[in-house]
Amino acid sequence: MIFNSASLREINMTNMINIQELKEKVLKGYKVTFEEGVELTKVTNKDELYQAADEIRLHFCGNKMDLCSITNAKSGRCSEDCKWCSQSGHYKTNIEEYEIVDREEAVRIAVAGAQKGVKRHGLVTSGRTVSNKTIEQLIPIFKDIKAQSKMSVCASLGLVTEAQLQRLKDEVNIEHYHCNLETAPSYFPSLCTTHTIAEKKQTIAYAKNVGLKICSGGIIGMGESMEQRVEFAIALRDIEAQSIPINILSPVKGTPLENTKLISEEEILTTIAIFRFINPKAYLRFAGGRLQIKHFQDKALHAGINAALTGDYLTTVGSNTEEDVRDFKASGFEI
Ligand code: SF4
Repeated sequence: MIFNSASLREINMTNMINIQELKEKVLKGYKVTFEEGVELTKVTNKDELYQAADEIRLHFCGNKMDLCSITNAKSGRCSEDCKWCSQSGHYKTNIEEYEIVDREEAVRIAVAGAQKGVKRHGLVTSGRTVSNKTIEQLIPIFKDIKAQSKMSVCASLGLVTEAQLQRLKDEVNIEHYHCNLETAPSYFPSLCTTHTIAEKKQTIAYAKNVGLKICSGGIIGMGESMEQRVEFAIALRDIEAQSIPINILSPVKGTPLENTKLISEEEILTTIAIFRFINPKAYLRFAGGRLQIKHFQDKALHAGINAALTGDYLTTVGSNTEEDVRDFKASGFEI
């Protein structure tokens, strides 16, 4: 075989990073750099990469699969223009819109999940911010869920004030605040022009100030590059996200991303593995879009995942919790 200088350079690049050495360093507490993360995206021995990520997961997180669920507590009519989102008022999509979820229905769904092994339930509202009136309406729902299921509760209410978070902490003792960075900071302005990553980080800082844990991740497959996925994983490490939901874009008809093609299996698995190298102790949470990759779910579970959002997602029908529990156990996890 004859190599030209470009292909030799390519081979040198792929040989530069030693997966085992880097894994051993991560196990001892080392923080993977951006450059190393980018090198990991180029390795040709992908199975070795996935297995190393799985070993990091096992070392720091054990074999437990952490399950949570959500209720879309306020749906649609959002002022923001996030290009992926069916709830944005800027696009014509076919979703159910409502101001506040029915209290009994929300509690019933959460309690049913708890009986199947779900540990935490989140209430999510559409919109740039949340009004104090909506918070008033959510508090009794949180209280009912806690009283009837003993689950811990989380909130995802957009850009909030520190006072609003303090109130949720004081009155219902929410555990996490969820605010996705969504994608790499360098790519976010291409996907949303009505708010910024800096505003999200401000909300996250408020949540930390009042003692909440951070759940923040985003969506892959929105046109970002592999380098930007590395940048994204590092941005999540920088904000100390304890739980990182990884959604795979499910293009929604009527949104600007409706014709986006699903990224390849290799890209998805590589991204999960790199997220694990960069965030070794986090709950890497399989979230929306995972039904599209059901045929290689077991491989993904062994590339660094240790948590999942189960049941319905915000505007799409999600997974069946009993089936999830069965699948995760079959993949070697305890629930
Ligand atoms: S992602 Fe959130 S802020 Fe953006 S359009 Fe959807 S509901 Fe609104």
